[in-house]
Amino acid sequence: MARFSSLSLQQKITGMMMLTSIIVLVLTCTVLMLNDISNLRKSLRTDLITVSQILGPNIAAALTLNDTATAVQTLSFLSSQPHILAATIYSPDGRAFAHYLRDDIPDGTVPINATGESVPLWDDHFDIMEPIVIDGQKYGAMYIRSDLMVMKARLIWYGVVLLSILMGSLILVYAIASKLQRLVTDPILRLSKAATEVAKNNNYALQVAGEGSDEIGRLIGTFNKMMNEIQIRDSELAQQHVILEENIAERTHALKTANQQLAISKERAETAAKRMTWQAYHDALTDLPNRTMLNDRLDIELAHASREKKQLAILFLDLDRFKIINDSLGHSFGDQLLRVVAQRLQNCIRDDDTVARLGGDEFMILLPNISVAEDAGRVAKKIIESVSQTVVFEDQELNVTTSVGIAIYPEDGSASDVLIKNADTSMYRAKDKGRNAYAFYTADMDQAAINRLNLEQHMRKAIEKNEFTLVYQPKVSTKTHQMVGVEALLRWETAELGVIPPSEFIPIAEESGLIIPLGEWVLKTACRNASRWHRDGIGSVRVAVNVSARQLDQDYIGSLIEETLDESGLQPGLLELEITESLAMNDVESTAATLRHLNAIGIHTSIDDFGTGYSSLNYLTRFKLDNLKIDLSFIRNIPHNPDDSAMASAIISLAHKLGMNVIAEGVETLAQLEFLTENDCDEVQGELFSEPLSAAKLEALLNSSSDQMIEIITDAIPEQAKQ
Ligand code: C2E
Ligand code: MG
Ligand code: MG
Repeated sequence: MARFSSLSLQQKITGMMMLTSIIVLVLTCTVLMLNDISNLRKSLRTDLITVSQILGPNIAAALTLNDTATAVQTLSFLSSQPHILAATIYSPDGRAFAHYLRDDIPDGTVPINATGESVPLWDDHFDIMEPIVIDGQKYGAMYIRSDLMVMKARLIWYGVVLLSILMGSLILVYAIASKLQRLVTDPILRLSKAATEVAKNNNYALQVAGEGSDEIGRLIGTFNKMMNEIQIRDSELAQQHVILEENIAERTHALKTANQQLAISKERAETAAKRMTWQAYHDALTDLPNRTMLNDRLDIELAHASREKKQLAILFLDLDRFKIINDSLGHSFGDQLLRVVAQRLQNCIRDDDTVARLGGDEFMILLPNISVAEDAGRVAKKIIESVSQTVVFEDQELNVTTSVGIAIYPEDGSASDVLIKNADTSMYRAKDKGRNAYAFYTADMDQAAINRLNLEQHMRKAIEKNEFTLVYQPKVSTKTHQMVGVEALLRWETAELGVIPPSEFIPIAEESGLIIPLGEWVLKTACRNASRWHRDGIGSVRVAVNVSARQLDQDYIGSLIEETLDESGLQPGLLELEITESLAMNDVESTAATLRHLNAIGIHTSIDDFGTGYSSLNYLTRFKLDNLKIDLSFIRNIPHNPDDSAMASAIISLAHKLGMNVIAEGVETLAQLEFLTENDCDEVQGELFSEPLSAAKLEALLNSSSDQMIEIITDAIPEQAKQ
């Protein structure tokens, strides 16, 4: 079956047709042949019966007469019938009476006592047994056997004819099949070829020839229609494909971009996360650890120190007067300074120490490995020296200092917050010591720190509550003993805290910035009073106002002073500014310009407390000041202290060489007065002449005549000094 299906259609059609024609022919010929053979047998039987009937009367006589010879002779007649092989005559009792055999048949081949029954079809002979009956009387029977040579000849003829017809018909069938096959397979082959071409080259424009109304034609038509349809679909598909490709390219591009953006976002997110983690534990400005990290490390180190029975130190520090620098020179300058300080602090410590910025100008250092408390003192000293090195920014030189408070574990506390608080407290002690110093914590410090904070809170409300007043201390000429001016000095008295001396509240005011509004109030009050005294004829006395460096660093100080003069109507010549030297000047150039301007409009200028704090000889030449006030610390011990005396006389002659007036403050004794007079000091101020007076008392003094005034002043001088 598999072999049949693998045959070509042509072979199948040809084979089927030939097989069909063979079967039809063979069947037809076989039927014809069998019919003919049957007819032949019938005719042979008739012939043999006829022969027996012809011979019957003669043989009946011979039988009656029992004449075998006659009977044999009669039978010899059969030799004229070559197809008869043998014959036998049987008497009525069934005995073989006479016998005939064709010459070429050997004896015994044909049975003598044949039954006469019909032999099968496939035997090569044919027998009959006919009774010999004459006039209705049976005389015996006759058996005749014939060969089938005639039939054999007929069969050969049939075979030849059949073969010839078969050959002829096969040739004819083959020719028809070939023709028929071409009709069917040619279009199929064309379709197949076209389909192969389409499959190979996707050429859907291909059309197969041979459309018609028959089945094949309709098949080709349908195929061509299908091709057209496919071509349309294909071009639509191609268009769709192009659109799809474009879409895919677009999407791929979008996807790539999205991926890139995702990668960037991811990277950013990771960086941001890292940054956030970093920021959580670091200070953004200086990159130092922040309070959180320091607290973490402190807790760990405290646990460690507790286990190991060791000491550790906390150093709390801030920059002295950083607020002034920051407010006057700007925040970016302040930031730069903080970075430099941070770097310097790091250079002062070891790897296992931690320096953290807590915010603003506050830093904290953890020293986890100290053997004795003095180790922390040594580090503090190193820090103080390092920070105080001159900083140069954009050609501007700046000196900052730091004050360091130290607390030691376990003696100053065992909890981290207690240690930090105590280090903070001791820092204020260091500031009280004059700044640029360090201090170890002692138990009595707590109260001082609380008081300081308390004071700052009170001061904030003191201006509105009118708790401040001004007192005026006369300045007296050493030549004339006349009052040449007064210095306005601030006083503060609160209902709760009582009188607070300027030495306590002025540094806090400077530190906190409260000195700005406070200084403004002093300036306005002093100018208003001096103007009134002048206007009302009480006295034209020059009033000196203390101005801290913090105030001078404000850009608007010049315009504020001019405004105040305008408002109060005070002549510029009746105002003097005492510039306190306790603070370092930040912007020396702009201060110099402001002072030059004020000088030019007639305002007097003095340098106060000369010889202490940040006094710099350089300022004297740059600021072109009118007066120089020698600090009372030099006056206190003259004339018995030769060093102070030498300093005082040197300062007086230096000032004179620079064209400045010299004032000595805090003059309490005649000896001091004498020394100063001998050394050519121009003016003196101090309790020897007058303590600072309230405005009312000063007015009373001014109202007295100048002689009276000299008297009052001279009265203050002890009798022995007058002689
Ligand atoms: P200063 O400007 O040097 O003022 C002189 C100080 O010496 C005043 O102290 C005054 O009371 C004190 N004094 C006067 N005569 C004597 C004396 O014979 N012996 C002694 N031992 N002291 C005498 P006070 O009023 O306590 O002021 C202290 C400092 O506070 C002032 O020193 C000044 O620097 C500052 N200050 C006072 N008022 C103001 C102000 O309105 N503004 C500013 N910025 N600072 C002020
Ligand atoms: Mg003063
Ligand atoms: Mg002074």
